[in-house]
Amino acid sequence: MKDRMTSGLAPAPVGARPASIEEGEEGRPPPSPVTANTDPVAFPSNLRPFLAPTHRLPRFPVSPEAKSFRRRFFAEASLADWSDWRWQVRNRIRDAVGLTRLFSLSALEHRAVEAHCGSLPVGITPYYASLMSLTDPDEPLRRTHIPVMAEYLEAAGEATDPLSEDADTVVPGLVHRYPDRVLFLTTPFCSTYCRYCTRSRMVGAAGEYAFGTSQWERAIAYIESHPEIRDVLLSGGDPLALATDKLDWLLKRLRAIPHVEFLRIGTKVPVVLPMRITRELTRMLKRHHPLWMSLHFTHPRELTPEVTEACGRLADAGIPLGSQTVLLKGINDDVATLGQLFRGLLVRRVRPYYLYQCDPIKGSAHFRTSVEKGLEIIQGLRGHTSGYAIPSFVIDAPGGGGKIPLLPDPVVGRDGQDLLLRNYTGAVFRYPDPDGTFGGDKNARGRALPWASA
Ligand code: SF4
Repeated sequence: MKDRMTSGLAPAPVGARPASIEEGEEGRPPPSPVTANTDPVAFPSNLRPFLAPTHRLPRFPVSPEAKSFRRRFFAEASLADWSDWRWQVRNRIRDAVGLTRLFSLSALEHRAVEAHCGSLPVGITPYYASLMSLTDPDEPLRRTHIPVMAEYLEAAGEATDPLSEDADTVVPGLVHRYPDRVLFLTTPFCSTYCRYCTRSRMVGAAGEYAFGTSQWERAIAYIESHPEIRDVLLSGGDPLALATDKLDWLLKRLRAIPHVEFLRIGTKVPVVLPMRITRELTRMLKRHHPLWMSLHFTHPRELTPEVTEACGRLADAGIPLGSQTVLLKGINDDVATLGQLFRGLLVRRVRPYYLYQCDPIKGSAHFRTSVEKGLEIIQGLRGHTSGYAIPSFVIDAPGGGGKIPLLPDPVVGRDGQDLLLRNYTGAVFRYPDPDGTFGGDKNARGRALPWASA
């Protein structure tokens, strides 16, 4: 925050615009949004906008910080351009030239960007770049999106596909691991690329992991022929980066399968490209209920007026919103940061759902914390804030074991017919449990229970 607008870089004109959106759209630009953002409204700082009906906010907000960033680095773009998601996608920062125009890159960042090849390219929307420090390479959001040389080191236990999704892939782009649900990988395209991405082997890539409608047809045919599948999670890449008409087509096809009860979308778009949540999009999504959404948040710095508006529009469309957050070393691995994020999400009608231990993808050691750190954070939140603001802390087990929740253990042991439990302040309390044995094994393991006769 301290230096976002004060780096020594001189203002620069807008770069040349690429002719078309490159990935995920099969060479076709998406259709125009219905709402033109010609006169964005200023956004009040109190809580009213979280609760107000969105019809009172017909245009997309632009925060003062984003306006200042636009004037400095994209002076030829109008506010309407800035608020147009297609403009944001076309003007993503993709390489060392684009990055050095905005950021004072460290030597490690510069070398890492120059050395990059293969999947998981650099990709940052101008909007999301406006949230990052221009000079501090340790700033949290910048660390999640600008590569450093540590990304090229491989530590013990790391893998390109740590969750063994490829082994559970039944047709290209469809992972069937759990009995009643499937993961539908819709596109390899994301509007931004997170350096810790579990699917770094495929996002931003073509070739083996190139996706298209013929592949979708095979996945749909598989789901149609498996009546045990009642829940389809659309992910990628990012499904909301698809053109609205293509996503509509896919949702319609899935909705038409009688045994599919429930659709979910996993997305980071409302966080990194919030202006994508157009009225046209929410009108379309409303037609496919029950539809749930998991939003990928990392840090409270992401809770801008723009993101508030995007979440409000999705919630007003009747879409239950949950969040997913990856625990990242030095980025969000403390109680204060995650507490602020989770409380901020609740206010925006997003229920914190999962806090993930970072998956051991290749080159992720600099992002991964100890497992104790996650438990410590959950322990630090429990009792100190609303239960709704505390997500499940999970490890997605390497090798395809699926999500395994971890909880700080509140069971102290037993004293006769009483179960002994520790509360959030550390005090021990008794619960009468005459028919149970639960907790007795702790006594058997010889733990001292000094309060047993208290
Ligand atoms: S948005 Fe999701 S799929 Fe895309 S790079 Fe980030 S973590 Fe990976």
